[in-house]
Amino acid sequence: KLSRRLAQLLEQIPTGSVLADIGSDHALLPAAAVQEGRAVRAIAGEVNPGPYEAARRTVAETGLGAAVEVRRGDGLDVVEAGEADCITIAGMGGGLIASILERGAAAGKLNGVKQLLLQPNVGEDIVRRWLDRNGWLLTGERILEEDGKIYEVLAAIPSAAEAAPYGAGLYADSTLADGNGPIIDREIKYLMGPWLLRSGGEIFEAKWRSEIDKLKKIRESLSRSEQGAAEEKSAELEARIRKIAEVL
Ligand code: SAM
Repeated sequence: KLSRRLAQLLEQIPTGSVLADIGSDHALLPAAAVQEGRAVRAIAGEVNPGPYEAARRTVAETGLGAAVEVRRGDGLDVVEAGEADCITIAGMGGGLIASILERGAAAGKLNGVKQLLLQPNVGEDIVRRWLDRNGWLLTGERILEEDGKIYEVLAAIPSAAEAAPYGAGLYADSTLADGNGPIIDREIKYLMGPWLLRSGGEIFEAKWRSEIDKLKKIRESLSRSEQGAAEEKSAELEARIRKIAEVL
């Protein structure tokens, strides 16, 4: 059975997709996507030998060899341009996800891709910034908790495709939907997520309250230090804490 985290990705894979799951490890997601009829076929990409073998085992054990192909390689190197229309990248840092997308885009591997589903473990802001600057439109964000950890799943489409219904002002500096909230700047939207800021919820609040606590601890340890740069850094932290607290 899939984890709740991977199930959240699975249910957003458009039916009929050719899926490429990059950094697939055990290939659980592509196997489930084919079994559930969401993907007509799938590629499981892995760069490391252990996970690559694990992916091959899953495919052998499930008898899905005709529909799920395991390929060894770095990032999007494993797909041909135009081959996949849905790409999933889950369970790694946001910096790594953005660099895989960046290198893939430069090689034309995102041409024809209609759906990106990304689940960074940390550094979600790096992924949002990359999407925003590279012609991808964030169409939804989900947040969930599993085994005491909080995960975010980001869904994006090429922004030219359907810019009108979603596009306007997603990252523009603005108030929340009702127009009465505080002004939220772009950096806070990258950090916390424009859709999650709107939907809020218990898990979202818990995540950011704990982040505020962490930042406060850093600030306290700074205020005990004697270094010259501490004051400036402390003011920066204070501003960040205030901006996060303001939108919760
Ligand atoms: N996607 C699965 C999930 O979410 O459960 C597995 C996540 S696992 C923590 C991260 C996987 O990404 C590892 O198996 C690792 O070998 C793979 N990986 C890391 N960098 C990669 C890269 N540049 N290209 C392909 N795979 C990579």
